[in-house]
Amino acid sequence: MIIHDFSKENSLLNQFIREVRDTSIQKDSMRFRRNVERIGEILSYEMSKTLEYKAKSVTTPLGLKTVNIPNSEIVLCSILRAGIPLHQGILNYFDGVENAFVSAYRYHPNGGDAFEVNVKYLASPSIEGKTLILADPMLATGKTLENVLRALESHGTPKQIHIISIIGAKPGIELTDMIFPKNTHLWIAAVDNALNERGYIVPGLGDAGDLCYGPRLD
Ligand code: URA
Repeated sequence: MIIHDFSKENSLLNQFIREVRDTSIQKDSMRFRRNVERIGEILSYEMSKTLEYKAKSVTTPLGLKTVNIPNSEIVLCSILRAGIPLHQGILNYFDGVENAFVSAYRYHPNGGDAFEVNVKYLASPSIEGKTLILADPMLATGKTLENVLRALESHGTPKQIHIISIIGAKPGIELTDMIFPKNTHLWIAAVDNALNERGYIVPGLGDAGDLCYGPRLD
């Protein structure tokens, strides 16, 4: 896996990451969602530099010009719930892509901290031979991405996979590296070292789904 960790360089992205982590700013859920969207926009733009391009001519009022534009068939697949604003951020820039959605949730079979991930809902077009963008805001244990990858197998084999994440934990990034094809790119705004006993990223930002949309109703 090719990892693009943008916390290693100075850019405006760090400002948005600081805000999504900050407990006082997090209280403004509209700002939280918009920051997630902005992070998605910036990571999409960076990712766009690695796509295939083709020359296309454009007619202006005064003449003709040739411009290199992306030439990939893209499916953008997001993991509910917190994936929604990240999906929107990516879609703001890649407005012509096909869309897929997966619901993946953690459950605790023995009532303790250990959990499994259940993929319950998947709506996806064919991904055969296409570029697949997986938007997973919090790459914690990597188990969600592993289950989503398996669930998508019935929809074809993508030519290329890009994972876009806001914050990842080192153990989850290591698992993802083992599971995904070697040419997969990970575009990530920040990397933290640890997970707590419930599989949350430390220091992370808390529960991204709750911060976007309020506590989950079970
Ligand atoms: N999902 C979250 O929202 N936060 C984490 O830290 C891990 C998974």
